[in-house]
Amino acid sequence: MHATRKLNPAQSRTAKGATATGLLTVGWFLLQSLLPVSVAIAQERNPEELTYGQFLEKIEQGQVEQVDLDQTRGIASVRLAGQPEDEPPQKVTLFAGERNPELIRLLRDNDVDVEIADAGGNGALAWLATNSLLALILVFGLLMILRRSASGAGNAMNFGRSRARFQMEAKTGVVFDDVAGIEEAKEELQEVVSFLKNPEKFTAIGARIPKGVLLIGQPGTGKTLLAKAIAGEAAVPFFSISGSEFVEMFVGVGASRVRDLFRKAKENAPCIVFIDEIDAVGRQRGTGIGGGNDEREQTLNQLLTEMDGFEGNSGIIVIAATNRVDVLDMALLRPGRFDRQIVVDLPTYRGRLAILEVHARNKKIDPEVSLEAVARRTPGFSGAELANLLNEAAILTARRRKETVTMVDIEDAIDRVTIGLSLTPLLDSSRKRMTAYHEIGHALVGTLLQHADSVNKVTIIPRSGGVEGFTQFLPSEDVIDSGLYTRNWLIDRITVALGGLAAEAEVYGEDETTTGAGSDIKQVTSLARQMVTLFGMSDLGPLALESSDNQVFLGRNLMPRSEYSEALATQIDGQVREIAKQSFDRAREVLRNNRPLMDRLVDMLLEQETMDGDQFRQLVAEYTPLPEKTLVQSNT
Ligand code: ADP
Ligand code: ZN
Repeated sequence: MHATRKLNPAQSRTAKGATATGLLTVGWFLLQSLLPVSVAIAQERNPEELTYGQFLEKIEQGQVEQVDLDQTRGIASVRLAGQPEDEPPQKVTLFAGERNPELIRLLRDNDVDVEIADAGGNGALAWLATNSLLALILVFGLLMILRRSASGAGNAMNFGRSRARFQMEAKTGVVFDDVAGIEEAKEELQEVVSFLKNPEKFTAIGARIPKGVLLIGQPGTGKTLLAKAIAGEAAVPFFSISGSEFVEMFVGVGASRVRDLFRKAKENAPCIVFIDEIDAVGRQRGTGIGGGNDEREQTLNQLLTEMDGFEGNSGIIVIAATNRVDVLDMALLRPGRFDRQIVVDLPTYRGRLAILEVHARNKKIDPEVSLEAVARRTPGFSGAELANLLNEAAILTARRRKETVTMVDIEDAIDRVTIGLSLTPLLDSSRKRMTAYHEIGHALVGTLLQHADSVNKVTIIPRSGGVEGFTQFLPSEDVIDSGLYTRNWLIDRITVALGGLAAEAEVYGEDETTTGAGSDIKQVTSLARQMVTLFGMSDLGPLALESSDNQVFLGRNLMPRSEYSEALATQIDGQVREIAKQSFDRAREVLRNNRPLMDRLVDMLLEQETMDGDQFRQLVAEYTPLPEKTLVQSNT
């Protein structure tokens, strides 16, 4: 197993509406089963009955003189030809609520005198009363359910008026100092604070105050925090709602929530209205699986109407957050709406350091801890992940009954959030030895290749999730932060990833290799494929053959399917295979040439179970000169 890191924790949302929906279905079911009963009660009062069939027959035979149609009750009173005046008319039960067009046509064709009444008589009244009572009970029940689910959300403040689920914080208590590492975004938003504080300064010279600001960035980068900081700095109330909460089970509820939200906001202006996950409502209209979504479109339209409705100087500034600006409806991005867009990126090394400093403030961190080292060890972490990391470290420290958080605790917390909980070491076994060879394979290849990242740690202590051991590398922040990778780096990385499998093959023979290398191979295939189809790093030349999935900011990504011929697809596969095969051979060669060293390292690892990068390099240097790394990186 090669060191893997989870960059974007999957967001899990629980559907709060689930129980309410469940109860709703029960409600409808009750209604359905009660209706026939109430009809039956009404029917008992009508003694003289004709069946519908007999009725039609009599019309056709010209025996019907006059008909009173009671549409509400679904009853026809029929006076037959030659029937004495003092005899009550015959009753016929029709299909309640139906307009019975054929019947009316038939009556007209046969020249029958027809009178249509909508309601009348005691029976109808009783029927109506029963049903409206039922309806009332049902509506009442629904309201109770909705109220319960709304209060169940446990929000700071709920406005009962329309079951609205937005929250209001009079004071967020967050200031710009709490937000770190995203300086550019902060600077741009500083202006918004001045708008809120002194709108006159801007309106006096005719400047139009922006109404909407769109924050674009991955989850956990601090968008919500930024919005709260603006409110905190300007000392104005903070209203917030999530886009996914707008879109509920009933058509029209979302729109009314938008109305309520803005009404409350206007009452409390100046203020900030924060809409998280705006893509949930703001997707392009008329798209999506299963055609348009009326509810979502109505909600979006209402939102646009509200934003157009208030004047720029009303003191309401709407801040919305999304990580999918490419799917947003263009109407949202028009001037006068969310015309300011600010990208909130994952933090760079400096950013991570600043964020760590913010979150270290309220924790007892040992003075010997180097936050610089932590920042260096965590490329790709978002602000939320860094905050979580320090919190995990503090939890570990408390569990270990120590006074201050030390580097060891932080290191352990990093492994824990990136790889999993550590489990008790395996007993000595051939399986353990094989795992050691696999990991040493990664580590040794990584140490001996010039362009590969430096080894930070090798371990054969198993982790939760079926990880039997791992080798951790220390990526260069230059590479990660710039996002620019050289072909040399990519090839070496693929070779290192294949080092585990190569070691198994060298030592145990190809027939004895294990499935433990499965995730290594997956990574290799994906990297090699990107080299061929995205970066033009193969014999096929500089062709972009696929649109990359994760670069959603670059544009609309609605057509993920690649458009190349079958023949080209075969060529691509050939190139990918070539890269993988050559790298595998290269890894095996490196290991074969250093077999005694590899055996020695495996023995050491079996004994110690974990080796750090410096110790590892020291041992390697006793046997063979270390290459001059292009990206040297030390752990301190
Ligand atoms: P987003 O809204 O972008 O998903 P949040 O603002 O909800 O992210 O971030 C969650 C938490 O992570 C914050 O409450 C804060 O503790 C921490 N955090 C995220 N970004 C930063 C940052 N730039 N500076 C300080 N803390 C941050
Ligand atoms: Zn591996």
